[in-house]
Amino acid sequence: MPEVKTIAVGGFQHETNTFAPHLAPFEAFERADSWPALCSGDVLFEAMAGLNIPLTGFIDRAREHGHALRPLLWCSAEPSSYVTRDAFERIAGMICDGIRDALPLDAVYLDLHGAMVTEHFEDGEGELLRRVRDVVGAAVPVVISLDLHANVTAAMVEHSDSMAIYRTYPHLDMAATGARACEQLQYLLAGRKLHKAMRKIPFLLPLTSQCTDFEPCKSIYRSLAEMGGEGLASVDLAAGFPPADIAECGAAVVAYGTDRDAVEAAAGEIFRRVVDAEPEFEFELFDAEAAVARALQNTAAKPVVLADAQDNPGAGGTSDTTGLLEALVRGGARGAVMAVLYDPEVAAMAQAAGVGAVLETELGAKSGFAGVDPFRGSFEVEALGDGRFVFTGAMNLNSHAELGDMALLRIVDEDSEVRVIVGSARSQCLDLAMIRHLGIEPTEEKIVAVKSTVHFRADFDPIAAETLVVISPGANYCRLGEMKYRNLRPGVRLEPLGSAHSTDTKPPVLQ
Ligand SMILES: [Zn+2]
Repeated sequence: MPEVKTIAVGGFQHETNTFAPHLAPFEAFERADSWPALCSGDVLFEAMAGLNIPLTGFIDRAREHGHALRPLLWCSAEPSSYVTRDAFERIAGMICDGIRDALPLDAVYLDLHGAMVTEHFEDGEGELLRRVRDVVGAAVPVVISLDLHANVTAAMVEHSDSMAIYRTYPHLDMAATGARACEQLQYLLAGRKLHKAMRKIPFLLPLTSQCTDFEPCKSIYRSLAEMGGEGLASVDLAAGFPPADIAECGAAVVAYGTDRDAVEAAAGEIFRRVVDAEPEFEFELFDAEAAVARALQNTAAKPVVLADAQDNPGAGGTSDTTGLLEALVRGGARGAVMAVLYDPEVAAMAQAAGVGAVLETELGAKSGFAGVDPFRGSFEVEALGDGRFVFTGAMNLNSHAELGDMALLRIVDEDSEVRVIVGSARSQCLDLAMIRHLGIEPTEEKIVAVKSTVHFRADFDPIAAETLVVISPGANYCRLGEMKYRNLRPGVRLEPLGSAHSTDTKPPVLQ
């Protein structure tokens, strides 16, 4: 019989875009969205069951090992600007109190993102882990998992004993990463010490270049799983979350194992592979007009998918910029649908007016993102939704969406035929179910425009004749050389082969 260990488990996920306008208050973590609402106690186990969430993977694997689990809490919020001081203090307080109440413990596991910036801390996870360590002391292993978009910091490495990081973008391996974290914990529970190595990559990687379906990330990430051997427990690469104006923003390699030399060698090898690949990270980006014009040439019986990459709410975008929508209408697109434009006011108007009504209104551009105008026009309400559906794509599979009022509006215009799905929650369109919820069959459309950067690819690339990544206004900047960082450490190149950040840059002109 394996020895039963007692492990406290929980999670606190946020990806913070410091250039975006929306803050993340406590309520954003408390409510359900594309993922479950804040949960604690035994409800946590029910809420996590069967989902592609790191905590789910950890729980399942830990139970296979026969460990006893003590639930803390799990919560997440849609990516946005800073987590409020109130939200961080309340949630970090609940996690630390939960750990204190569960003592004595053999270990702690936390499912974290690794790019949380709060109103009062640049490194939310580093601060949380410092407090957790204070509670449990040096002898109790603290193991974490992180998102591929983590900006891994020295404090996160210092205050945890081991970490596992997603290896896919789109994130298909979230639960699998939790399971890997559990396997790393097995080394520690057996009383073995894990040496740590960390290397920061000297340039930022735009999200568009981080997709693991394409080179060079495809090969680099595949090689992580193939590395192993005597004394090496794991080596991982976080590609980083660039729209975070913090000193330690950017990609990093971490490695763990019982043999210091093997750990250092593995970290060094992956570091070299990423640095050697610097010229290969380029990714073709289209402006909106060019993308629409190209999509109109498509003769295949499949849609062209246009990714409104910079207004991706999953990277902190407001999800209400109108550049690509305008381009579709001006370009005379027919059989086009855009999903999902965030405008709770218009979603409520459509719900009140009912199917068949025509609204004369201004759509979008209400979040205060600079330089964006609303789309003015007439909109026929074609369908309504309550935002409750079950995800069918691999990434969010089985998760129950709670997105509130939604509406399918047809823009009344003789020269185009464009529909737009309006939502009352900012939520990344990464799953075909979000479109089908409003009665549209995406495979039968000519053009499908999604407010997403990369995650949509898992579900949408298989139905697409072609996928084009579009640069329209939005807070998730894909051309990092144009960004105005104030707090980034000097010397980091702002993009592959880009210029180095210096401290005498102008103050930010963004939000
Ligand atoms: Zn991510």
